[in-house]
Amino acid sequence: MVAALHIAICGAGPAGLSAALALQACGHRITVFDQFERPRPLGSGLILQPSGLAVLDWLGLGARMRALGARIDRLYGKAAASGRVVLDVRYEVLGAARGLAVHRAGLFNVLHDAARAAGIEVETLSQVKDLDGCSVILNEARRAGPFDLVIDALGSHSPLIAHASAPDYRQPLAYGAIWSSLPWPGPPFDPHSLVQRYDKASVMSGVLPIGCVREGEAAQAAFFWSLKVADFPRWQAQGLQRWKERVHILWPETAPLLDSIASAEQMVLARYDHHTLALPYGRKLVFIGDSAHSTSPQLGQGANQALLDVKTLTECLQRHDDLADAISDYARRRRFHVKIYQALSRLFTPFYQSDSELLPLVRDHLVAGMSRLPLAQRALARIVCGSLADSGAGIVPSR
Ligand SMILES: Cc1cc2nc3c(=O)[nH]c(=O)nc-3n(C[C@H](O)[C@H](O)[C@H](O)COP(=O)(O)OP(=O)(O)OC[C@H]3O[C@@H](n4cnc5c(N)ncnc54)[C@H](O)[C@@H]3O)c2cc1C
Repeated sequence: MVAALHIAICGAGPAGLSAALALQACGHRITVFDQFERPRPLGSGLILQPSGLAVLDWLGLGARMRALGARIDRLYGKAAASGRVVLDVRYEVLGAARGLAVHRAGLFNVLHDAARAAGIEVETLSQVKDLDGCSVILNEARRAGPFDLVIDALGSHSPLIAHASAPDYRQPLAYGAIWSSLPWPGPPFDPHSLVQRYDKASVMSGVLPIGCVREGEAAQAAFFWSLKVADFPRWQAQGLQRWKERVHILWPETAPLLDSIASAEQMVLARYDHHTLALPYGRKLVFIGDSAHSTSPQLGQGANQALLDVKTLTECLQRHDDLADAISDYARRRRFHVKIYQALSRLFTPFYQSDSELLPLVRDHLVAGMSRLPLAQRALARIVCGSLADSGAGIVPSR
């Protein structure tokens, strides 16, 4: 086991906070830096898959997260014009495992409350600018460290990516989405399904039950509408009412959700990009979560992958005596799983979010038909569960 280290964790998102908890429990001294004063929502909800939930269970936080979130049994989508079912993933084909949709702030609260209870230092209003050796350069020319190890969990636009041992591969995506957390609308929406509607691949809208932010609060839904990032200023200029009319024509059942949107500011733009670090480490530096790899949320794997990174890194630091060996073993164990999910996300995204006329036709006819076959249903469920390949985190995949 690597001797006790003083570790700087840059970023208090799902990756940074879960790493702080796991590594402090192994005896390391942790300081977390984040630029926020209070958590900010970026996108309103996400689905934790069974493999990511297994990591939360390993951290002792699964029960509280399940009590706040919404169990997800099915991902279900229809082409609006034809009514054809073009996405139907049922977790039950793999057994008892299910997804859990959570409000981003709910996930933050669970991790942050646990970090506070464990006495972990989180330095807020600390914007990470750069590294100088093993010291962290912060805003206002502040400097912290030197540390024995720096963990970059700053997300996909981390300024520390330049310090990775190999160059970054990055592809910004034209389509993002506008998102909001709204009161749960009730029937006909199913409290255990992600439901989507599509018009070709240029329009995708979805309703995801996300449970509540704190115990005893009302349940919410994440409501999203895909939009080209370049078209966002035009969307803002056209006025809320015209957009609501368009959504209503596509999907009349969303009326109660639309009624609860009083201003355009309630819809927050999320941008996506694909980026993958071939070598997610530098000297005494390691990348986890979106700073190591990010994708469009089409397969719902980002936070899941971050949690798998954390468990793998923690186990590698326990397994090896030498820090450099532990870090390269972490990268090696995660490589294949990350690569396969990055490739699948790149493959699937244009079928649901692109300007293509052909791909949605293929999706609506060929893919929709194939996905009714039992073998294809199991394969799709395994992809979504995050268990298509060995994650390196020692979690037994569902078959
Ligand atoms: C709209 C949307 C929907 C998504 N849906 C899903 C889903 O269904 N399932 C899923 O698993 N994933 C989903 N994801 C992806 C998921 O949100 C990310 O993969 C996950 O949040 C990554 O966690 P992270 O901790 O690595 O990075 P982040 O969540 O980006 O956290 C980074 C942290 O670093 C801080 N930070 C950033 N820069 C600096 C700086 N310079 N200095 C100091 N602090 C800084 C930020 O304040 C933040 O707290 C979705 C993402 C989006 C945008």
